[in-house]
Amino acid sequence: MIELSACKLVDLTHDIHNNIPTWDTNCGFSLSIMQDHEPESAFSFKVQHYNTPAGIGTHIDAPAHCFKGAPTVDALPLNTLFNPCVMIDVSGDADEDFLLSEQHLKTWEKQHGRIKKNSLAIIHTGWGRLWPKPAYRNNLRFPAIGLDAARFLLTRDIRGLGIDTLSVDRPKSSFVVHREILGAHRFIIENVAHADLLPETGSYALSLPLKIKGGTEAPMRLVAFVP
Ligand SMILES: [Zn+2]
Repeated sequence: MIELSACKLVDLTHDIHNNIPTWDTNCGFSLSIMQDHEPESAFSFKVQHYNTPAGIGTHIDAPAHCFKGAPTVDALPLNTLFNPCVMIDVSGDADEDFLLSEQHLKTWEKQHGRIKKNSLAIIHTGWGRLWPKPAYRNNLRFPAIGLDAARFLLTRDIRGLGIDTLSVDRPKSSFVVHREILGAHRFIIENVAHADLLPETGSYALSLPLKIKGGTEAPMRLVAFVP
């Protein structure tokens, strides 16, 4: 097991504000002040209200995002959200039309070893460097994942699949990776931040979505423990 106190904590979460890229052209997030601090007093309440799409910023897709009756975010057991983490670095190759293939993963395994059961696999495409500019959304053209790669990862019995772009699928793909991963009742994490700070192997990730009852997606805090 890992010695938590000997680990460095790495925040893999983007800030959420009203100017970040989302799947739709309109971000949809807003923060309003319901009550502000009183200027004259040292102690007073400031009360805010958030309005937000569920799939905002660094967020989780639960199986229910695509499948009726499948687990929602609140139903994901905590012990499935703490995982060995592998980082697959394809940032040298990944342009806006890049698709991760089974071959990339086989090459990665030759160098770094077999991906462990129950891992969170994070695909580091380097696209995260464009966050939060419009170029990140890029009319929904960004590096994504191929169906053969998703199937290969399921043969390794991964628990979750993360990527540093808006989605594991581009719209043209008919959302085959969502179908494959969520259909296997695993989870997806999109808009992973700072994937470049992860080692290829040896770290652990804690994936904590807001516990929204019946939620199909939820913003989250994603943290890596790096020995
Ligand atoms: Zn998604």
